[in-house]
Amino acid sequence: MMQNMIQYPNMLKVHNTLSGKKEEFQPRQDKKVNLFVCGPTVYDYSHLGHARTYIIFDVIVKYLKQKGYDVFYLQNITDIDDKIINRAKERKTTPEKLARDFEKEYLKDMKGLKVDSVSKYARATEHIKEIISQVERLLKKGFAYQIEDGIYYDIAKFKEYGKLSKRTALQAEDAVSRIDESKGKRNRGDFCLWKLSKEGEPSWPSPWGKGRPGWHIEDTAITEKYFGSQYDIHGGARDLIFPHHEAEIAQMKAISGKTPLVKYWLHSGFLTVKGQKMAKSLGNFITIRDFLKENSTRVLRLLVAKNHYRSPLDYNDNLVLQTERELERVDEFVDKLSRIKSVKAGSQQILKGAEEEFEKAMEDDFNTPRAVAAIFELISAGNSLIDGNKISGSDAKAILAFLKEIDKVFNFIFWKKEKQEIPEEVIKLVKEREKCRKEGLWQKADEIRKEIKELGYWVEDTKDGSKIKKI
Ligand SMILES: [Zn+2]
Repeated sequence: MMQNMIQYPNMLKVHNTLSGKKEEFQPRQDKKVNLFVCGPTVYDYSHLGHARTYIIFDVIVKYLKQKGYDVFYLQNITDIDDKIINRAKERKTTPEKLARDFEKEYLKDMKGLKVDSVSKYARATEHIKEIISQVERLLKKGFAYQIEDGIYYDIAKFKEYGKLSKRTALQAEDAVSRIDESKGKRNRGDFCLWKLSKEGEPSWPSPWGKGRPGWHIEDTAITEKYFGSQYDIHGGARDLIFPHHEAEIAQMKAISGKTPLVKYWLHSGFLTVKGQKMAKSLGNFITIRDFLKENSTRVLRLLVAKNHYRSPLDYNDNLVLQTERELERVDEFVDKLSRIKSVKAGSQQILKGAEEEFEKAMEDDFNTPRAVAAIFELISAGNSLIDGNKISGSDAKAILAFLKEIDKVFNFIFWKKEKQEIPEEVIKLVKEREKCRKEGLWQKADEIRKEIKELGYWVEDTKDGSKIKKI
């Protein structure tokens, strides 16, 4: 009796940065998963490092959904920040216009990468009321203090500061990236919650005068609004652990008194280019835009999936070439499978093995490289069977169905053949023609076929439906 109960979802294990261990995944409430990933600061084009992070979390969310979890994926958009104000000055535009323009570009990039699992994007500037409310509560509870240029968080008041990043209070004093310098701060590591605006800078009214939010407070203000003071998963790239995520814990615990803020912290590894950190000064800075000019999205999606999300990933030309070759193997296999018509009895064994391997890999902290390896083992085994004429039509169909299912998560298997090569206009006509044929309107169907031919495509009627070919 008990045995039947120890099945998924308890099989899934995820690596939690907070404990430094793999833990059994059990959402706070049944199968409901509230997940937050740090979104972009919209002051420039996104690069391959961003692409890696957002593809990984897209894969994770799609996998969780496939396993029956009800996922709410929230992402913030940092549309007010020093970087935005400075860039707008350089470009002689307003911070607001710059932020809106680059937000649009970001969303365009995500669409290009087939990252389409985000349930809600929340702009910082649309949550000023929530941000001010958090700052007020932090002041009231004595965790924040006001000095000349704004309100700061006193990290000395929060005993657990450094717990996520495994830093001591002293080390926390050391690293001060994106933490705001000010002479009047009590501790070097104190970070800004509310910045009083200088003349000409964007500002919102507050009890302390006109100002704008610090960087860390927008995340907790936004997650508190949509999830409450505790939720299931917080994701992001490794470099955000400190001080950004550490600050989030400090803010929310101080406000709510509840712990933990987040049940599972998931962090993705760095992306380097030819062994070096990506930097404009090194000339190895690759934007998503530039990558997609010369390569297909599926190359990047497979390339990312072939590496474990927590490991560093070194991007180089060889890796791209190798990935392209692997995709040719995928296409060839899918093509062969689709053409198998034999009705001879086959064996489902290779599929069963692949399915098990795939699931085992994904349930083990989203081990996508092992899951991808299982797909390629299936391709090898399948090719041998096909070459030996030992595969049945129904087996081929079952393998294709499995590949389609996992491609809802990975998005690199079925590509242009189904999605890009044939113009939408043609697909629409083919569908219309199929409808005519079903209703016995043969003459109309023939007319539509001519129309399709004029567009450069040929329709063939098979027992599995219409096949479209380019003439
Ligand atoms: Zn964030």
